[in-house]
Amino acid sequence: MTERFIKNEQLNFIKKQVAWIKDSTKQHLPAGVLTSVYEISNDKILNCVPNMTEEQKNILDFSTFKTVEAYDQALEKLKAYVLPFPAITEQQLKKLFPKSKKLKLPDLSTVDLTSTTYLSWMDSRSNKKYIIYELEDQVVGIECSFSPSSKKNICSICHCHGEVTHFSTITKAKKLNNPDYYKSIGNLICADSSECNKKITDVSYLEEFLRESLRK
Ligand SMILES: [Zn+2]
Repeated sequence: MTERFIKNEQLNFIKKQVAWIKDSTKQHLPAGVLTSVYEISNDKILNCVPNMTEEQKNILDFSTFKTVEAYDQALEKLKAYVLPFPAITEQQLKKLFPKSKKLKLPDLSTVDLTSTTYLSWMDSRSNKKYIIYELEDQVVGIECSFSPSSKKNICSICHCHGEVTHFSTITKAKKLNNPDYYKSIGNLICADSSECNKKITDVSYLEEFLRESLRK
């Protein structure tokens, strides 16, 4: 039985290192420089998952690889170790948004949970986007409003350039003595969340954004 231990964003990070190695081998770099590229990338790969067991470290030890093919084969094998997004039912999703009476739910059967850091879907009738994520062992969700137009820019979550939409969310923060105060947070986020999930290599902004949105 394979013990899964790699998160989607960590696999993306490893893929990025391998892509850098592949690019570097095509650039006719001096042998010493290319060796450094291999070493730096191998080191980053070996350190991208915290608190690994010896067995897990062996799986992410790419230091003996000499060819691009060896990296490709190793990447292929890593898919079996990727942790899926926690299984969630429609009932649980509804509970996350008790105020949304006509909540449009995603078709969960079409979502590839092993390629999902955050689950997200849009309801174009109400111009709402929903983001679900496991934050500190608890599945949380936020609702954002969006403008229907998109443009090319940097996404706040995956930090990559692409087609983004402006999303804003009302936080739960309240100002003392002012019941009408609602703080809103705006972000440019990939219009297509499956693309964003393919590119995300670091969850620090996503987690900070969710914490801030959910802060009471
Ligand atoms: Zn993105």
